[in-house]
Amino acid sequence: MIDLHCHSTASDGTDTPTELVNNAVLAGLTTMAITDHDTTGGWTEAGEVVRNLDVNFQLIPGAEFSCVYERSDQDRIPLHLLGYLFDPADEGLRAERARLRESRLGRGEAIVGKLVAAGYPISWPQVQRIAAGGSVGRPHIGQALVEAGVVPSVNDAFADLLSSDSPYYVAKADTEVRRAIALIRAAGGVPVIAHVWARRRGRVITEAELGELIDAGLAGIEVDHLDHDAEDRRRLRQLADDNGLLHTGSSDYHGRHKEVRLGAETTDPLQLQRIIEQSMGTEPLYSNRSRQ
Ligand code: AMP
Ligand code: FE
Ligand code: FE
Ligand code: ZN
Repeated sequence: MIDLHCHSTASDGTDTPTELVNNAVLAGLTTMAITDHDTTGGWTEAGEVVRNLDVNFQLIPGAEFSCVYERSDQDRIPLHLLGYLFDPADEGLRAERARLRESRLGRGEAIVGKLVAAGYPISWPQVQRIAAGGSVGRPHIGQALVEAGVVPSVNDAFADLLSSDSPYYVAKADTEVRRAIALIRAAGGVPVIAHVWARRRGRVITEAELGELIDAGLAGIEVDHLDHDAEDRRRLRQLADDNGLLHTGSSDYHGRHKEVRLGAETTDPLQLQRIIEQSMGTEPLYSNRSRQ
């Protein structure tokens, strides 16, 4: 069972990289990609744990990049782009990850500042403690709101105070998605667009705009994701097939910050093979057992 989109405490998941790998094994996964937001911070720890497993297991190092599609009229649609097996030392992409994480800090502090000004009893040091050095995101602010008794769950925080329509919302300095595709390719990685038609999160790009991303070098489309309905999945799979792109299915697991479980959606082994064949930045990591 192959799950190619999972978060750890290196960003806004609640499992440490060690717990994430162990939970993946318990869930019956044989391949997992670690794809924290704008960081490779979990790669080393996850890799150590995988190496010492006594079951067959393959780790695909990756990341989920915070992007935006800029329409000519200055209209901006937020997007997430998965990058797999890129060279973590590639300077162009490394600098962009650092810039994105820095932007998350200032933006997180700004959202907290607005909430505090409106009387919500949370603080920026509290949110930084919750994020514990990982890429700061709205789920950490949501957890602070839960701790303060403002909302019962992170999900409830997203429904209102943390939504992108909320008066407390502040945007991040996301990367233009066509530039991110080029940066991932230049680092030897494989760019796959994440949950592209997750309509309940807000506005999404059109099919024609997705075609532009394909022209820009997109390698694949995350088709099977809980935020896609059956009709969108059918159309996205067709678009992938018609354009020679690979397609994936993934849980987008975030531990306790989201309800989805590991392996809730999975990727076909042939599609994973296509990712590995296109990659030139770094290799998958295997457990000792897998090598025997
Ligand atoms: P940010 O990256 O700070 O803009 O926050 C967006 C992140 O919050 C995404 O990575 C999602 O995984 C997560 N998210 C979005 N909606 C929800 C929700 N309803 N409950 C928990 N997490 C969510
Ligand atoms: Fe997230
Ligand atoms: Fe995402
Ligand atoms: Zn994700």
